[in-house]
Amino acid sequence: MGGQNTELHDNPLLAGGGLPRFDQIEPEHIVPAVRHVLAEVERELVNLENNLTPTWSGLMEPLEQLDRPFEYAWSPVKHLFGVKNSPELRQAYETVLSEVVQFTLRAKQSQPIYEAMKAIQQGDVWNSLHEAQQRIIGTRLLHAELAGIGLKDDNRARFNQIAQELSQLSTDFANHVLDATKDYELILTDKSDIEGLPPSLLQLAAHSYNEAQVNNEKSDQALAKATADNGPWRFTLEGPILVPFLEHCRRRDLREELYRAFINRAAEGELDNSEIIVRTLQLRRESAQLLGYKTYAQVSLADKMASDVAAVEQMFETLRSASWEPAQKDLQDLKQLAAESDVTEPIMHWDVAFWAERLREKRFDYTDEQLRPYFPLERVLDGLFLLVTKLFNISVTPADKEAPVWHPDVRFFKITDGSGNQIAAFFLDPYSRPQDKRNGAWMDECLSRRRISNALQLPVAHLVCNGTPPLGNKPSLMTFREVETLFHEFGHGLQHMLTTVDYADAAGINGVEWDAVELPSQFMENWCYHKPTLLGFSGHFETGEPLPDDLFEKIRAARTYRSASLMLRQLLFGMTDMTLHNDFDPDSSETVFDLHRRISEKASVLPLLPDDRSLCAFQHIFSGSYAAGYYSYKWAEVLSADTFSAFEEAGLDNDQAVIATGRRFRDTVLALGGSRHPMQIFTDFRGREPNPEALLHHSGLA
Ligand code: ZN
Repeated sequence: MGGQNTELHDNPLLAGGGLPRFDQIEPEHIVPAVRHVLAEVERELVNLENNLTPTWSGLMEPLEQLDRPFEYAWSPVKHLFGVKNSPELRQAYETVLSEVVQFTLRAKQSQPIYEAMKAIQQGDVWNSLHEAQQRIIGTRLLHAELAGIGLKDDNRARFNQIAQELSQLSTDFANHVLDATKDYELILTDKSDIEGLPPSLLQLAAHSYNEAQVNNEKSDQALAKATADNGPWRFTLEGPILVPFLEHCRRRDLREELYRAFINRAAEGELDNSEIIVRTLQLRRESAQLLGYKTYAQVSLADKMASDVAAVEQMFETLRSASWEPAQKDLQDLKQLAAESDVTEPIMHWDVAFWAERLREKRFDYTDEQLRPYFPLERVLDGLFLLVTKLFNISVTPADKEAPVWHPDVRFFKITDGSGNQIAAFFLDPYSRPQDKRNGAWMDECLSRRRISNALQLPVAHLVCNGTPPLGNKPSLMTFREVETLFHEFGHGLQHMLTTVDYADAAGINGVEWDAVELPSQFMENWCYHKPTLLGFSGHFETGEPLPDDLFEKIRAARTYRSASLMLRQLLFGMTDMTLHNDFDPDSSETVFDLHRRISEKASVLPLLPDDRSLCAFQHIFSGSYAAGYYSYKWAEVLSADTFSAFEEAGLDNDQAVIATGRRFRDTVLALGGSRHPMQIFTDFRGREPNPEALLHHSGLA
């Protein structure tokens, strides 16, 4: 066993204190450390199951302790998988991933622990528990129950059988969409057909052509190399190609062809998803009924902020009715522009994106590249830190030498409260590194706030962006979208870092209902449209001059461009999703496609085409986790807009009022996280329940 000792000796993943040793972790540390930890926590779990004491300190504390070794041995691995990937790391990660998932499931579904938590909930001790403690137990019980733990014998067997079949259906659904997307191509060779297409799209299309040639075994002799300038160009149904194609292609018949292919993806032949949709809806309803609910929508809402389907439908209707007239006007504007360009055909689905882009160019003639010089990262960070200092009475200070990092560009900052005590810290990994870092931007937990035998572990966050790195003697210059993204992720980070909850299960974003978790992040984005704030942190990297007024006004106007049409588009998805999971009867004569079209008559100014089968590719709800949850996008926007409106009502130019409102936001939403129901927290902050008026107002639809 000498070998194992060597593997575990000095293994940085087994540190168990301080900050993770990001400068020392190597792929070969992963498998031995994770297996060691798994064996250890499995032993502790069995021990716990055999010696149950139904009290907080006897059960819940040790249960939370089970997470700690993962915080050091597994979280850093997941993190490095996103930001410092390599074939060795991926292999080690994949080797232990399923073992980690299995253990987590086993811990969550432990029958003896479930019974013991139930005993706490029903016993005398319950009333002596703090609200946060009750929430933690209640949430754990609910999730175990939604996973079928309370079911007996036949019902349990049937429930598990359904879960298996649903998981297979979801995989099949996704594979069909993937294959159908891959199967379609439109190859153009004539330069007159690609007139108007942007160079970046032509580059993608030429690249796609070359890739397809390589993948096509039949043509491995002397391959004709496509170029962006001379083609051939291959257009597909993948988002990064389809969207700019519909926006810019001047050949109306080709737009129609791609659009029709798009709404018929995975809708015929071997890849037809329509049967899978019906079967999925039937099985979801059956499993909901086994759990004692009437519909699957009720199951979905059981662990969300929205109280019931009626509350969601009420939000839909408020937003829908306010958007209806303005969306008609949006369409009218497009018709008018088309008519001015001597187009006589009616505007159809495949024309909307095209004319909307022409109108955008006419109204807001600025580009990302024009804005970049005004947003050097350092200035934006200073402005962001100044804002949160004012709002929340905290200070953010660089502490780069104090933390081990995985790349020299990564920064480290500390957060202190008004009296100068450290309360949190965060890593910022700002730039894109296509060779080993995942796309996009995200906030993740590095360490959670928790109490460990009377010592407090402070929360540490990961903020990851994919901005443009400094080039030559130019600093990192951000697009406006990148600035918004930084504010968004920092908002998530604030909720993680400014928590005052000492139980990791409810600290920060942990335990926050899914439809409420985007509140702080979207709230922070609003400040990018507040003129004094934005102008305050903009400054040309060469001259220091702030963003010119006219550019700011264009950014602000672009924010509400076609907002009613975009709102209806999201509502159509959300309403269809909710109706399918609450009211659809698979045995009635109305098909899912009929239902989709019926809803589109209320939620789209251009009702769906009679042969629209785009539900066959609605992956969010049939192979993702948004089933009866698509409404969450809008729900969270209502919350964040209504939160910002509290600042507007107080007066954005009134420093005293803004500071007071900021403190209240900090003490409620940011501090309490998952320790109270989000509706109560929101009411604590706002003095009333959320109201969609603010979102309508910000969207220019009030
Ligand atoms: Zn987010």
